[in-house]
Amino acid sequence: MSASKRQRGATAIREEPGQLPQLNLPQIGLSLERTPQKYVLAAAALALCTFLVIFFMPASENTGSEKLAAEIAEQAAVEPLTELPPPAVAVTPAANSEQAWHAQTVRSGDNLSLIFKRAGFDNRDVHNVVSQATDGKSLARIFPGQTIEFRADQQGELQALRYVKSPLESITYTRTDAGFASEVALRKPEPRETWAAGEITSSLFLAGQAAGLTQNMIMELANIFGGVIDFVQDPRKGDTFHLIFEEMYLDGKKYKDGEIIAASFTNQGETFSAYRFKDANGDVSFYNEDGVSMRKAFLLAPVDFTRISSNFNPNRLHPIYKTSRPHRGTDYAAPTGTPVFAAGDGRVSKAGYSRANGNYVFIQHGEQYVTKYLHLHKRKVKQGQRVSQSQVIGSVGATGAATGPHLHYEFLMNGVHRNPRTIHKKLPKAKSLPKVEMAQFRSAIRDASAQLASLRSNNHLALNTAAANIEQP
Ligand SMILES: [Zn+2]
Repeated sequence: MSASKRQRGATAIREEPGQLPQLNLPQIGLSLERTPQKYVLAAAALALCTFLVIFFMPASENTGSEKLAAEIAEQAAVEPLTELPPPAVAVTPAANSEQAWHAQTVRSGDNLSLIFKRAGFDNRDVHNVVSQATDGKSLARIFPGQTIEFRADQQGELQALRYVKSPLESITYTRTDAGFASEVALRKPEPRETWAAGEITSSLFLAGQAAGLTQNMIMELANIFGGVIDFVQDPRKGDTFHLIFEEMYLDGKKYKDGEIIAASFTNQGETFSAYRFKDANGDVSFYNEDGVSMRKAFLLAPVDFTRISSNFNPNRLHPIYKTSRPHRGTDYAAPTGTPVFAAGDGRVSKAGYSRANGNYVFIQHGEQYVTKYLHLHKRKVKQGQRVSQSQVIGSVGATGAATGPHLHYEFLMNGVHRNPRTIHKKLPKAKSLPKVEMAQFRSAIRDASAQLASLRSNNHLALNTAAANIEQP
């Protein structure tokens, strides 16, 4: 196997329906659902004064929904942080061409008034849709790249409006005798099972890319094995990984990554396997074949391994003090601003600044353990604060006695400095599955376990699903 060779296959569609993934639209701008009502009303009242003068010269009743409508009409669309996938819902002309849908794409800085105007409708229509329809408020959060489709009747009156929020969700507003009614249409992408395999020639990251994995999938893979493999130090040329995972499809095209079902990583001849399993409490986690959690009480490295550029030589002369000082930590060189994670659950015992340490954070984990993070560019936690494993506590910097941006990380057990890497395997594990769940677990992972084994032995034909579809590497 070679990392330069793209190795992956497509197998049969899984039977069970996938979960609807969350579309992470950032909550930018005024969120009407989250803003206390009194502020909304106060702001709306101001906007309303202008609005009424301009648009509601004819007498109009002063209701709460009108205030809302006024505000929504003029609320600018703010660029979302993440790019929206292009809408999959095509504009379908009605049989009668006079009643075709006409689409408007939301632009940066747009608001409903502008969009309706471009489509040939006015603020009276905006007001009617927003105030009359149950889901009228949904139009308060439009984002550039989204689509709003309009349909007029033969007289040019607005008949229906379709707001395509995402490929997975659209809302149709239809004129009825009792005003506009709305209907939400949700779509579910379908999961398809597939696999990938790779061999490390330089880094896990490059090998993952060569295997056709997205950056998120590679990170997910690294997270799963982060408790047993140190991806900064351990991976060696020739290490291999195999995984069975899902991809979510919509209209025959990949929409997004799904979940990793099972994966194995062979590091210097030793194979670690991990299986996704939902326990009796409904918690989903990865376990090895014996039902032992893959998660450890501490992270091997408190920095994302893909951001680490090199490791400092711990036996070097100290670049500032010019003496060979005992170096009691691990240094990770990474760009300024790289997030630093809490290595484990605990409480911030100190967070401050000193000339030597720069910005620093110390975390107490139970009675026995303390972790220290020095030279931070920024601190993100305060003394006394509770933190959970992998929570961002600061960012890599070069404050204090540091020549370049790096994280100096210390691990203390009962007050004694320990090498976080060598001690790691002796540290407490996160929970394992209770004995009563083991039978269920063993039967749940049987197929995936066999598939992984066959991937590793390169005998792809033994895969139990749609062997014919599998592209041979
Ligand atoms: Zn150091």
